[in-house]
Amino acid sequence: RIVYLNGEYIPEEEAKVSIFDRGFVMGDAVYEVTAVIGGKLWDFEGHVKRLARSLNELEMQNPLSREELLEIHRELIARNPEFIDGGIYLQISRGNAGDRDFAFPPADVKPTVVLYTQAKNGLLDDPKAKKGIKVISVPDLRWHRRDIKTVQLLYPSLAKMAAKKAHVDDAWFVEDGFVTEGSSNNVYIVKNGKIITRPLSNDILHGITRAALLRYASEAQMTIEERPFTIEEAQAADEAFFTSASAFVTPVVEVDGKPVASGKPGPVAVRLREIYLEESAKSAI
Ligand code: PLP
Repeated sequence: RIVYLNGEYIPEEEAKVSIFDRGFVMGDAVYEVTAVIGGKLWDFEGHVKRLARSLNELEMQNPLSREELLEIHRELIARNPEFIDGGIYLQISRGNAGDRDFAFPPADVKPTVVLYTQAKNGLLDDPKAKKGIKVISVPDLRWHRRDIKTVQLLYPSLAKMAAKKAHVDDAWFVEDGFVTEGSSNNVYIVKNGKIITRPLSNDILHGITRAALLRYASEAQMTIEERPFTIEEAQAADEAFFTSASAFVTPVVEVDGKPVASGKPGPVAVRLREIYLEESAKSAI
């Protein structure tokens, strides 16, 4: 695999980052994952905008323009011809700051920019989209700036491991009695035809797939209610589902051991997945 590191396209074995990099020492880095289907980028503009926002919130330099980012994404697709479907991972850290120090390094320290392809063939036909997934709930013990997409993913990793141990697919975070989001996705329930999802705030990541889906749903005259919901409401809902760049729209059929309605994917989630795939394919670049 050919990867991108600080302006160079090199084989992955040659891509090395300093032990003093703040991404490594302090988790001082942000990231994005953009889906690639048939060699085309999905929701690219949304990911670029959110990257700029994350960097800005952390007072980190934004080293690359939209055009430069697009060129790097396309170059990686071109230089890795076996890569057709999957995602492109992008990470920008505050760079190699020398000896460990809590204070940010001087402005002339350059950020470390890494991008690489992650192939996942058959991404569109993941059997989980047909069967739906099962989730457990765990307390949301993350920091309170979840709107910034940082690489500090230790707690989401622990939550995923808890889900694995419970023989389910994912964990939903709960705070003050309400669901915030999934370990790496935004979550929704459907009740009496209404799509219910938590409003944007610092409590959740502002999902790019969420933004696109809510736009398509409102264009299709579906009713959206942005408000928090509880685990009990999810268990009593007609349907549940989640969104993320790598899983699009995927039904959730069990929450904390209780089936959602019949325990099968519901018609709204299935329809929303179709709409999302159709519309995103049209605007892929
Ligand atoms: N929420 C969290 C915590 C995430 O990590 C992600 C994706 O990585 C999402 C939501 C979904 O965001 P997007 O649709 O931009 O992939």
